[in-house]
Amino acid sequence: MFMPAFYNPENNMKVLKFGGTSVGSAERMKGVAKLISDGNRKIVVLSAMSGTTNDLEKIAQCLYEKRHEDANRVIDSLEEKYINTVENLYDTDEYREKGRGLVKSHLGYIRSFTIDLFTVFEEKTVLAQGELLTSAMFYYYLLERHVAAALLPALDFMRINTNNEPDTEYIKDNLAGLLKKYSNEEILITQGYICRNAFGEIDNLQRGGSDYTASLIGAAVGAEEIQIWTDIDGMHNNDPRIVEGTRSISELSFDEAAELAYFGAKILHPTSVLPAKLANIPVRLLNTMKPDAPGTLISSKQKKDRITAVAAKDNITAIKIKSGRMLLAYGFLRKVFEIFESYKTPIDMITTSEVGVSVTIDNNEHLKEIVDDLKKYGTVDVDEDQVIVCVVGDLVAEHPGYAHKILEAVKDIPLRMISYGGSNYNVSLLINARDKEAALKALSSKLFN
Ligand code: ASP
Repeated sequence: MFMPAFYNPENNMKVLKFGGTSVGSAERMKGVAKLISDGNRKIVVLSAMSGTTNDLEKIAQCLYEKRHEDANRVIDSLEEKYINTVENLYDTDEYREKGRGLVKSHLGYIRSFTIDLFTVFEEKTVLAQGELLTSAMFYYYLLERHVAAALLPALDFMRINTNNEPDTEYIKDNLAGLLKKYSNEEILITQGYICRNAFGEIDNLQRGGSDYTASLIGAAVGAEEIQIWTDIDGMHNNDPRIVEGTRSISELSFDEAAELAYFGAKILHPTSVLPAKLANIPVRLLNTMKPDAPGTLISSKQKKDRITAVAAKDNITAIKIKSGRMLLAYGFLRKVFEIFESYKTPIDMITTSEVGVSVTIDNNEHLKEIVDDLKKYGTVDVDEDQVIVCVVGDLVAEHPGYAHKILEAVKDIPLRMISYGGSNYNVSLLINARDKEAALKALSSKLFN
């Protein structure tokens, strides 16, 4: 039978991602199982139990440094945590036994790396065990409860190419094969974060990458919706740890969400917006503790004429390059950018004048080399411990008055850089870290109250 290219049998399915704290204990896992058992077919992406990936990173660090006893200590404590979870998760001896077996085999595998040579390859394999173990434990829990579930191994379909970009065709084809194989199962569990690289080796999508997994899967299957379940009721209009009375935003556009995720809103991983945006699949941010709360819906709809939210990104370094020769010169910016490119260091913010350029970076790994290279083109000043405050909304030039309102709110705070016009959705301010709290509070009271 002829099928149009866009035909997709799974396009009324949802993809739900649960982060580490949502599966952080036996109780929480049971809560997730209840939440997802509503009779609808769905893909469920799981992170490792909270704290696991940090512990696995510690183990890897110990093994690199040949501190085998230290590594074993962390492995022991992880084993204890997982065995405890197993004891509280299952009702029957049969499944408790199976659960213990899982823990023993994954932790035993990690322990085997304390004997041999330890390289990046082994590190990636160790890091993958958290998601593999958590998802298998959860899958067994569903089986114990006679839920029609299947485990889709992420390592069989999630792949990145030689540029570390997702291999979308491969993901789509291989996932489609697995979905066909398990066409009768209601709940399809898979692991976030982990993948294979272009050589077929175990790899990952970087820390916090489970959101990215969910978004890539949503795009690959043409899902009806991608849901990211966390512990707060959606994206807030300012940082609730610093500002009192913040509100959850009911609707955001993909562009606003991307700016907020990139500039500090911790609830969503910045990489996860693009696949959903390209496939035009709405993303909903929901709270496992309050499953009926509406949360935040991210879609292609842009609400007009409003300031939506404020976010802040810490640990920023500002670099100013001043050159008399920039005056009327061309090629200066290219040379500056090439230096950052050669050290694979992305630039976040940029402002220019006729005599110089200021940029910010959030990764100081190659700061010294970058500064040395930049000195060829002029004098260089470096300011560490800066913060980017990002104000997001429908800030098109046709709706005047917002820039004034924003600057008015921070009139008493020294501003190091101001950036507007890069997109229609954000105004970014660079300030000293010690002024962050005052800036966020002032913006909230001026813009939202
Ligand atoms: N477990 C991984 C991490 O802690 C991925 C994730 O949770 O999204 O980074």
